[in-house]
Amino acid sequence: MSNLDRQAPLSVCGGRGFVVAEPVRELLSPRRVKLGESTEVRRLLPNLGRRMVGAWAFVDHYGPDDIAQEPGMQVPPHPHMGLQTVSWLHEGEILHNDSTGVTATVRPRELGLMTSGRAISHSEQSTDPHPRFLHGAQLWVALPQERRHVEPHFQHHADLPRVTGRGLTATVILGELDGARSPGTAYTPIVGADLALAAGTSTSLPLDPDFEYAVLSMSGEAHVDGVPVLPGSMLYLGCGRTRLPLRAESDAGLMLLGGEPFEEEIVMWWNFIGRSQEEIEQARADWTEGTRFGEVTGYDGAALPAPELPPVPLKPRGRVR
Ligand code: MN
Repeated sequence: MSNLDRQAPLSVCGGRGFVVAEPVRELLSPRRVKLGESTEVRRLLPNLGRRMVGAWAFVDHYGPDDIAQEPGMQVPPHPHMGLQTVSWLHEGEILHNDSTGVTATVRPRELGLMTSGRAISHSEQSTDPHPRFLHGAQLWVALPQERRHVEPHFQHHADLPRVTGRGLTATVILGELDGARSPGTAYTPIVGADLALAAGTSTSLPLDPDFEYAVLSMSGEAHVDGVPVLPGSMLYLGCGRTRLPLRAESDAGLMLLGGEPFEEEIVMWWNFIGRSQEEIEQARADWTEGTRFGEVTGYDGAALPAPELPPVPLKPRGRVR
């Protein structure tokens, strides 16, 4: 999906200074953001209290929404730079079209991984007809300096590796978990996994003590390291953990996000990640003038105009404020 926020803030993220080196349990509340007329998402990253978890720089949770009488997701062509987008569905069906000529239909628990590299544009819309409910997460991964100008490309992996235990099915979205590795291309040490827990399950997952982690709750009643995490909330866990205790009171759906703390400072605005305000301004100009980001075919409608850049110059604020 896209950041459709018309008052997109310009923010600096990354840097190691505020990474919590020890295990912590920091509950992050979502910010409600309107996307278009009818859709509301819960934004977990960037958060007032925390901006990144490893290279994960953006997390929106949406639904479940009953879209039986509605067109559902309708995101017109828009650009991306310096990041990967991960589309992850629990319910619904999304048609993706991009400027590299790829068309793909992404279904629940399939990976739609778009690497923007230097420049890409894409549209996303619910299929027509579409399932009654739409429920998913949209996530971005920041690309490191040496790989952020790679050629744009889209990967669709319908069959992802799974780790199963008693009452737990973990689907590896990106990176590696408990010996299972996602076929999606990762550019930094990272992990993303979907955790489906059956009611009554009490288990634990192996973690890498050098990674920082967070868990997003998508459905059900789950306790993460003893903390109840309600759907639409995220628990930041810090670094230094070798195992993560999980307990489910009901059937529950979680996402585990982690990675090596992202050392570089990045500048995020709208759908772009760069390293300076000038670079962001250039990307905005290129999109407005119709250069660099290519063209999306297969979407019936106008492209998304870029919002105005805020007049206030950037002030680095680090990972936490
Ligand atoms: Mn997008």
